[in-house]
Amino acid sequence: MPRLILSDIHANLEALEAVLADAEGQYDRIICLGDLVDYGADPNAVVEWARAHVAVAVRGNHDRACAGIDSLEDYNAAAQRSAEWTRSVLSEENAGFLRNLPRGPLRYEDYDLAHGSPADEDEYLATAFEASNMLPFLQARATFFGHTHLQGGFLVTRGGVRAIAPKGTLELEPRHFFLLNPGAVGQPRDGDPRAAYAFYWAEEHRIEYRRTAYDVEKAAAKIRAAGLPDSLAVRLFHGK
Ligand code: ZN
Repeated sequence: MPRLILSDIHANLEALEAVLADAEGQYDRIICLGDLVDYGADPNAVVEWARAHVAVAVRGNHDRACAGIDSLEDYNAAAQRSAEWTRSVLSEENAGFLRNLPRGPLRYEDYDLAHGSPADEDEYLATAFEASNMLPFLQARATFFGHTHLQGGFLVTRGGVRAIAPKGTLELEPRHFFLLNPGAVGQPRDGDPRAAYAFYWAEEHRIEYRRTAYDVEKAAAKIRAAGLPDSLAVRLFHGK
């Protein structure tokens, strides 16, 4: 059975529940690449779910900010308001869980987990050029990452880098390095508003990219009812 690979849930309970329903019965363990919270209206419910069900997770920059590890100075106004609101509602136990999440990259089984990049947990890997700088840091055939909220990733070889189109199933050939992004569960930014995730068959080195629709109206209404910035609700409809 494959692992269920999730990233960037961002306190979006409706998206998380839709993914779990779509994937039900088809995976053995859950792996999380960070940013459990911030932007969405259900940080406590998402962290409580993670505490009960996730086998391994690395921290994201928003987990650090909302757990009080980082100051909010470098955030724009909307992100500051969101992180302050999340801090104000998170239970002490849930904040403590976020504070103790390990920094990536983290080796699990025979693959690596990172939030941003294997070189820096806050680095964005959005382009083939950015991915080409990763060759010295790649230790495993598969390195999973998030942070960009863009489903897909890169095939990195000594001869060059190629973007991976997140369509269906991909076999990871030996003697190559794969940087693999399951996409964002809770705030997709690749123009497709459906929640993104992936299955990974660790023994067979095979990934399947998946999307599932969820109740965006409900998640957006909760964001507005919480008094979070309206832009955080609007962008969910566009997947941007
Ligand atoms: Zn994120």
